[in-house]
Amino acid sequence: MKAAVLTGPGRINIVDDWPEPVCGPRDVIVEMDGVGLCGSDLAVFHGRRLVPATDWVMGHEGFGRVAAVGSDVRDRQVGQRVVIEPNYACLKCTDCLTGLTSACPHRAIVGLNAPGVLAERVALPAHFAHPVPDGLTGADLAATEPYTVARAAVRRSGVTAADRCLVVGAGAQGLLVCLILARLGVQPVVTEPHPLRLAKAEQSGAIPDDGRTGFTYVFETSGHASALHPAVDRAAPGATVVLIGLNPDRLPFTTDDVVRRQLVIHGSMIYDHPGDFTAAIAELPDARPGAVIDARFPLHEAQQAFTGAAERAGKTWISIHDTEAGRHA
Ligand SMILES: [Zn+2]
Ligand SMILES: [Zn+2]
Repeated sequence: MKAAVLTGPGRINIVDDWPEPVCGPRDVIVEMDGVGLCGSDLAVFHGRRLVPATDWVMGHEGFGRVAAVGSDVRDRQVGQRVVIEPNYACLKCTDCLTGLTSACPHRAIVGLNAPGVLAERVALPAHFAHPVPDGLTGADLAATEPYTVARAAVRRSGVTAADRCLVVGAGAQGLLVCLILARLGVQPVVTEPHPLRLAKAEQSGAIPDDGRTGFTYVFETSGHASALHPAVDRAAPGATVVLIGLNPDRLPFTTDDVVRRQLVIHGSMIYDHPGDFTAAIAELPDARPGAVIDARFPLHEAQQAFTGAAERAGKTWISIHDTEAGRHA
């Protein structure tokens, strides 16, 4: 079968002879329709995050149709349209048993420590293939996993409609946080240097930065420590700072800053199985997260899709069965 395979930093080959997946008794085989690209995929593509092997199948934000079910699977059917929850927690360890599957130390992280889904067919544990409602676009389904990440951050933060929110960064996570806050009745202020991303954030319900202060919530989505300090300076005493973007740098503020201003620092990592995904999927027909997508490429143009992804205002996805060349949402 065909697969998009990383052969070295910045180089993707479309191969025709990748081995077919094997369906275990508790697995499903998904015939893939599309895969969204995000920051972690680009870090792998550029060689900034190392993967266990090259050649390596890329991608984790996938959707498709169930093509086969394992002998022990009772609650998935061939032909169902599904999105993949691409973090297969063990569901047995202490963290999993307390509900924090996002912290599972045995988690298979698709595309990073387990092979990706940018292939014609993949096998995965059946419970991580979530059926979706009819009527959604490929863009909506390609954006479902990052929507779930953003939604989990908002859920865990405890933000309410009465809060004043600042969103730092309008990449896909920032745009999705804006969209979700707007659905809650909050009109967030957004800071973003890229004018096209800023315009997209305004379409998602945000208002551009006008210098105001007194935010009760700051959502950091950019992963740039330098963007965090000025944002935190503008927070109200007692504010919650939600960190979503990942960054190896030390935080740019002191214990003094946090204690005197009584800040709450709240990290949010992906989502917890299965509640965050099922809740996000139930919202898709209204939330339509495909609004944050602006480019679609066929599989044979995967190289171009990856190469230009960081410069595009919105998200990019790759359509597996598309034969038409060129860039379009
Ligand atoms: Zn992602
Ligand atoms: Zn676990």
